[in-house]
Amino acid sequence: MHYKRYIVRISENALISLILSSLEAYSVKKKDIKEKGRPKSRIEVYGSLFGHEIIMKNKAILYHVEMANTDTTAEQRRSSVDVNREAISLKADIVTSFWPHLIYLGDFHSHPFKNTREVLDNKMYFMSENDREWLNDNFWKQKGYRVGLVMTIAAMEKAGRRASGWVASNCVDATLGNYRMWLSAYCAYSQKGEYKYTNDNDLCVTLDCPALTGLRWEHADFGRFKNGQYKPL
Ligand SMILES: [Zn+2]
Repeated sequence: MHYKRYIVRISENALISLILSSLEAYSVKKKDIKEKGRPKSRIEVYGSLFGHEIIMKNKAILYHVEMANTDTTAEQRRSSVDVNREAISLKADIVTSFWPHLIYLGDFHSHPFKNTREVLDNKMYFMSENDREWLNDNFWKQKGYRVGLVMTIAAMEKAGRRASGWVASNCVDATLGNYRMWLSAYCAYSQKGEYKYTNDNDLCVTLDCPALTGLRWEHADFGRFKNGQYKPL
């Protein structure tokens, strides 16, 4: 079922992990990944997301990503990453058993680009066709996969201080010194027996990342001051 509205909310803790993992894979050479005999940096990274699912008063569904944990057994490459299903099953299983306040929510992976031009010219901060094809496999549905995050990262010649903001309702950008990053959120739903991601630019998905954007809007109507007095609605 395709819900009318999804909110994907990222905790500061999860955001820090997402940034650290994608930045490490982007900037630090990994010995066992070689091209023409030389270790390579700018590779993809993959990990699992854990958090909560909340049905809101207005029936919107909120996925709160509490933590993002890098899968150390995923095989990292330049323009792809091979997932290790055993790792995902193990993590989902252990979390359910020992930390029952968390559920397996989905995954994240990074898209490394040489420079911001490459990203901006073709809106490469969105998901690739390959990413979409992956999802159509019973494994994900069985695991309760609900959210996919893509962290796109590119280097800039000059360090910047641009404030973070939305480039689409499901995508927020951030500038950290010489790096620019874009975090995009997708939700998974069943349709005619297929398990699918929501679209790029999909207005039914809002990415809420208060650690980057601040508390910009209300999820539900909040009380107002009336006649000089605070009145809860
Ligand atoms: Zn991808």
